[in-house]
Amino acid sequence: MRVIVIGAGLGGLALASGLRRAGLDVAVYERDPRPLIRRQGYRLHLSDVGIDALTSVMTPERWAEFQATTYTPEPRFVRLDPALEVLEILELGGRHLSIDRRTLREALKAEVAGMVTFGKRLTGFESWADRVTARFDDGSTVTGEVLVGADGINSVVRRQYLPHARIAGTGLIQLYGKIPSEQAEGMGNVFTAITGPGHRMVGVAPTRDYATCSFGARAEDLPPDLHLMCQERLRATVTELTDGWHPLIQKMIAAWREIFPLTLRTSVPIPPWKTTRVTLLGDAAHAMSPAAGAGANLAMRDAAALAAALIRGGPLIPALRAYEQEMIDLGFAAVRISAANGARVLGQAPLPAG
Ligand SMILES: Cc1cc2nc3c(=O)[nH]c(=O)nc-3n(C[C@H](O)[C@H](O)[C@H](O)COP(=O)(O)OP(=O)(O)OC[C@H]3O[C@@H](n4cnc5c(N)ncnc54)[C@H](O)[C@@H]3O)c2cc1C
Repeated sequence: MRVIVIGAGLGGLALASGLRRAGLDVAVYERDPRPLIRRQGYRLHLSDVGIDALTSVMTPERWAEFQATTYTPEPRFVRLDPALEVLEILELGGRHLSIDRRTLREALKAEVAGMVTFGKRLTGFESWADRVTARFDDGSTVTGEVLVGADGINSVVRRQYLPHARIAGTGLIQLYGKIPSEQAEGMGNVFTAITGPGHRMVGVAPTRDYATCSFGARAEDLPPDLHLMCQERLRATVTELTDGWHPLIQKMIAAWREIFPLTLRTSVPIPPWKTTRVTLLGDAAHAMSPAAGAGANLAMRDAAALAAALIRGGPLIPALRAYEQEMIDLGFAAVRISAANGARVLGQAPLPAG
């Protein structure tokens, strides 16, 4: 059986890694001409969900090598006010790792060396009772027994397969960047959110080599030309929007580097669909705002679960149906939790009805 995976993000690479370990025939097609050319954020928080998934799809040697690059944060979410007074502390159970996204993607890519073709943008697919053919923008096609859309929030696979599934705005924009670790002293938690008036937020999270610093606000409170601003203007804009906040926060913003803006969007949960030999994983199925820190964890959980279902063998459609039932339940539950967290802390717009 040949499995065609569209997208070499965390989910697609994790799936290919799991299938390769079991000796299944898998091929990954990625639209980017080279790995690591897009900005998607720097640090990721891995919970038990992501850690279990990664240890099941990676070789123990690769996992050990990767784990040596991670940072173990204090297992809590802390919310402070602009004077750095504590508003809320949530103690988190389980394991937690702060990791560098690029390092993880490199580790997964090394696991599937030679199985990923870059510069291949899927434009559509045709499916029959016994096979699926994927079409690419260079006119080429490839045929297999299963097609997996691991192609992220703007998934071409999902748009053709489930045209009624929608992506909605959250009303939020976040600016992501890095600060030197010493600027984040005392903020070694899984996540520290400093929340001020009008749902403005500065978020701080450590990794082994740096800390990420993000600034979030409702889109209408931010200048419309953020995407055109140089680093200095982005820092000046946020300095103005956090005027009067604690001097340590101002120092962080002065030290902020490699900043880029992101408009946050979410999927809108829909009822389960009929299972065929075309399936989805991760953001392609259930993209969510980052307010629960769950998107990457779930993309890799989906990948590990789908790999396990395909490796077990047996009739294909029932195996895919069992995978999809769990993926849809867990994925859309997380979309709802992210939207609720996002509404409470960031002023995220409510999820539209499906
Ligand atoms: C700034 C930021 C911080 C985040 N922090 C966290 C966190 O701490 N913890 C967490 O769990 N989640 C976090 N997330 C969410 C997480 O990044 C995503 O949920 C996760 O990357 C989804 O993985 P994926 O493999 O489904 O999709 P992606 O990582 O988006 O990968 C999709 C891939 O498909 C490729 N592709 C797209 N279209 C095509 C096409 N037509 N043909 C071929 N290839 C295509 C893309 O180029 C891409 O490589 C964060 C997100 C952001 C933006």
